[in-house]
Amino acid sequence: MASLRLKNLRKEFDRGQIVAVDDLNLDIEDGEFVTLVGPSGCGKTTTLRMIAGLERATSGNIYIGDDDVTDVHAKNRDVAMVFQNYALYPHKTVEENMSFGLRMSTDLSKDERYERVYEAAEMMGIEDLLDDKPDELSGGQKQRVALGRAIVREPDIFLFDEPLSNLDAKLRTTMRTEIQRIQQELGITAVYVTHDQEEAMTMGDRIVILRDGELQQMGAPTTVYENPTNSFVGGFVGSPSMNFIDVRATNDSGEVVLRDGEGDFSCHLSSSFSGRIESANEQFTVGIRPEDVFPATGEERNVLETTVEVVEPIGSDNYLYLDLAEDFIARVGSDVEPAPGDRIQVTFAEDDVHVFDSENGKVVA
Ligand code: ATP
Repeated sequence: MASLRLKNLRKEFDRGQIVAVDDLNLDIEDGEFVTLVGPSGCGKTTTLRMIAGLERATSGNIYIGDDDVTDVHAKNRDVAMVFQNYALYPHKTVEENMSFGLRMSTDLSKDERYERVYEAAEMMGIEDLLDDKPDELSGGQKQRVALGRAIVREPDIFLFDEPLSNLDAKLRTTMRTEIQRIQQELGITAVYVTHDQEEAMTMGDRIVILRDGELQQMGAPTTVYENPTNSFVGGFVGSPSMNFIDVRATNDSGEVVLRDGEGDFSCHLSSSFSGRIESANEQFTVGIRPEDVFPATGEERNVLETTVEVVEPIGSDNYLYLDLAEDFIARVGSDVEPAPGDRIQVTFAEDDVHVFDSENGKVVA
């Protein structure tokens, strides 16, 4: 087991035309489960492959524990990687697939290897499949074999590259729990790549959000959800996405009031924000999460009257699409059932409003 540190890690492709990973710094603790998430092409897989030693860093360093492994060959790094496509040998049995790495990298006897394989197979609940070939297995079973093969190696670090993408939704949920259980049981440091923010949020002790090869934020899922450092993170984390409205600030008798161009959105914000306003009419982007918008009683300080455009029931809740901004959604209880075209009043707490610089997206308050 070991910690993992990436220091000023950079990866260029095509003679510098593409910067896949740009000056990435991450400190991952021993035994921690960290998820890497971001849109397609943000550099997740390239980062993982550099940690595994499958891709050479252009510059920067990778440390496993105290060892600088930047120039160490993949087979000499104590990491095990689990891939989306399982990467099993089709002509070998499950047992042979799981023991292959051990045969190459250790001098364990045949019996000792079998013991390790059987133990890992039991952990994954596949001990009855040891004599089967991969094409006799379901997708979920194949992924269990791939996980079992990683466990058998007893690595310092587990690397997962979208391991559940090929499974159906129900199985994916089961396997998420399985992977977490095993990682905790073995206490092995894990880095898990996914493009699914929900998966990243539910699985990670900490979540790393990347965009265009650059780190946007790293933190505990609730911290990132509650305190996004920029509008990209605010919009990426949470489902449905954070609502954004472009507004101008005015200082209205000591209170901050935000208005959009048509003057149909105004809200009073916390005093921490009022101190940041440098000039009247300064532009900001306001972010409010769908789950932070509530039907108003009329008593509240911030009440917005608007038209309901669409009502989308999801069972436990209703999504109301409101005419406040494009795709502005309020997530309300299923007992709140306006009809499309109805006028309603909604409200939100001042503390639940995120304010971002409209130019660089950085959080202001
Ligand atoms: P996805 O979720 O689609 O897998 P990702 O976040 O894992 O995306 P990477 O696969 O790491 O992103 O790619 C990052 C960038 O580097 C992309 O612009 C990609 O096109 C580029 N890239 C990756 N591998 C290579 C390569 N071997 N040659 C050239 N460009 C590459």
